[in-house]
Amino acid sequence: MNFISTRGKDQVINGASAIAKGLADDGGLFVPEYFPNLSDRLKDLLEMDYAERAATVLGSFLEEYDKAELLSACQKAYAKFEDEDPAPVVRTDDKFYIMELFHGPTLAFKDVALTLLPYLLRKGCDISGIKEEVLILVATSGDTGKAALEGFKDQEGIKIMVFYPSEGVSDMQKAQMCTQEGNNVNVVAVKGNFDDCQTAVKKIFSSKDFNFDLKKRGVVLSSANSINFGRLAPQITYYFSAYCDLVNSGEINFSDKVNFVVPTGNFGNILAGYYAKKMGLPIDKLICASNSNNVLTEFFAGGEYDANREFFKTMSPSMDILISSNLERLVFELSNRDAALTESRMNELKKQGKYSITETELEKLNEEFFADFCDEDECLQEIYDYFEEYGYVLDPHTSVAVKVAKNFLSFTENQNATVVLSTASPYKFTQSVLKAITGKSVSDAFKGADMLMNETAMPIPTQISTLKTKEKRFTKVIDKTETLNAVIDFLE
Ligand SMILES: *Cc1c(COP(=O)(O)O)cnc(C)c1O
Repeated sequence: MNFISTRGKDQVINGASAIAKGLADDGGLFVPEYFPNLSDRLKDLLEMDYAERAATVLGSFLEEYDKAELLSACQKAYAKFEDEDPAPVVRTDDKFYIMELFHGPTLAFKDVALTLLPYLLRKGCDISGIKEEVLILVATSGDTGKAALEGFKDQEGIKIMVFYPSEGVSDMQKAQMCTQEGNNVNVVAVKGNFDDCQTAVKKIFSSKDFNFDLKKRGVVLSSANSINFGRLAPQITYYFSAYCDLVNSGEINFSDKVNFVVPTGNFGNILAGYYAKKMGLPIDKLICASNSNNVLTEFFAGGEYDANREFFKTMSPSMDILISSNLERLVFELSNRDAALTESRMNELKKQGKYSITETELEKLNEEFFADFCDEDECLQEIYDYFEEYGYVLDPHTSVAVKVAKNFLSFTENQNATVVLSTASPYKFTQSVLKAITGKSVSDAFKGADMLMNETAMPIPTQISTLKTKEKRFTKVIDKTETLNAVIDFLE
């Protein structure tokens, strides 16, 4: 299958090259030329384990990857998860489910894709004849950074550098990144917010001079952010997998429709759900949940994307984003794949910080999606309520999604099973979760973890308990204007 750029000015290339490159030369994002339909294979998927499902979904896009090798890569990646199933679905109430995507090496849903991306990327380079060393640049709001570092550490022929907002991640996330092991990794804090990091990284990607300079050094850039199709594709699998699990356990009938609720930041996770729907999965509503940075909620309500607004630091930092990169892929579909229009909208976004879609596009959007947000108080309250009612501990991101799901279900006739995607372990955000459940504030994240365990009896994952004694290797903080120099330093 071929891939095209959302802005229409890059060459048509295969999936291997799209993954190796990450971002199109025209600044657009790679999208598949069409969506393979898996409706006829849904019955087969029911019988498969997770790795087989993943290999089936990925194989339908990535025809140039060897099928047996792809399956074996999926098996290896998903063996790194705590349970056999990396995406178990837990029933908490009648027709209400939580899909737990946080049992991987770094305790966030990003692991589902980033345990597999190193293979997809390495192989993608081989297939497309890229011999250079690959330098992966990552802008992170906390979880991508750690998951990417863990996935790519000590991988031959690859270097990885991560930029995170110095005051924009949780203590536990910072501890995870600062103590990263591996001989090919680097982590730098940037004074600013996530959008500053993302903009800086995008700028480096699009600098012709710098890329030319890199080529001379025998290095090419690539991306592990969800703008890379190799990040997106593995995320499609768990929508299929959750559906199959619900059918297999008798919770729904085959071909019943379900809703998915997704705590959203850069729009990568929920976009994978939209792609799953386009591939024939019986999804009814995709529910886009935001925190106080509710730029997406307003976009879905009025058709204007306006990033000119106050930026809030919340307790769900992975959703503290004003420019949701992957929305470009959705807008591209909404416009019936009008690349020129998509490009002009993205240019408006860059210049004026906003753009609008048409009434017709907005109607189409609202047939497929529902969007809402919840503020900090509601988020805390929902963690408390959920624990009281079900004895189940939500992290702040998942809490936002649960709250929005409840809003949706309170006024709709929609009777479908509803699955909330749980994106992080509560222990990554111990202080907020502890405060929500007990009212207590602690400054030490590890002490908070002990207190949270005493309160909830939820075991502390070893990835958290072992952090305390690890050496802090990366403590540098830089200005956002210094990112390019930091990259050059790392290479030398
Ligand atoms: C990354 C992340 C999100 C947001 O996902 P997007 O794909 O960026 O929309 C939500 N919750 C957690 C815990 C995350 O790490």
